[in-house]
Amino acid sequence: RFITFEGIDGAGKSTHIASLTARLAAQGEVVSTREPGGTPLAETLRGLFLHSGMDPLTELLLVFAARRDHLQKVIEPALAAGKTVLCDRFTDASFAYQGGGRGMDLAVLSTLEQWVQQGRQPDLTLWFDLPAEVAAQRRAAAREADRFEQQDLEFFERVRAGYAARAAAAPQRFARIDASLSVAEVAAQILAVMEQRGW
Ligand code: C5P
Repeated sequence: RFITFEGIDGAGKSTHIASLTARLAAQGEVVSTREPGGTPLAETLRGLFLHSGMDPLTELLLVFAARRDHLQKVIEPALAAGKTVLCDRFTDASFAYQGGGRGMDLAVLSTLEQWVQQGRQPDLTLWFDLPAEVAAQRRAAAREADRFEQQDLEFFERVRAGYAARAAAAPQRFARIDASLSVAEVAAQILAVMEQRGW
């Protein structure tokens, strides 16, 4: 099983990834990882990506290069060994951020997706959806800020719309979680999705 977690910054993914990792670990081996990153090379690329200025196409190529390394070295071997892989962000984030947010050509994104993933797709994507304004308030409370988190509300609404479009195109894979609710309510929604799938 390959489960990904998506949503705009401040959606509250991290808390729930940690608790779901702990819960699934009782059933079998779980690999909890993230993008961009997840391997030494991809984490180095992540550092560049987060802290250096670059044009949107460079950013897009860097994210997919990191993804390729991550898939090859971590995700595919874990899935082949029958492990459950939980990944904080994956290709939907490229469609949302580099596509929706930065306006990169979606056809180019689709080509890269096919090239890099060779047909691999998550079995389930938990999409933490909430208005950009609510997410911004949470980020301000947490005082988080990398170069993306300083973006304006319009940017994050475009990212959110990018996620909505991906969800509409793959309704079987996507489960929309109302991330504007409390931690307990979000956890309950995730549990319901997992139970629905017999997981
Ligand atoms: O999810 P996480 O906070 O680890 O992501 C780090 C930063 O990289 C976030 O601000 C996120 O918005 C950004 N990002 C991005 N494009 C991606 C993945 C992440 O702009 N494809």
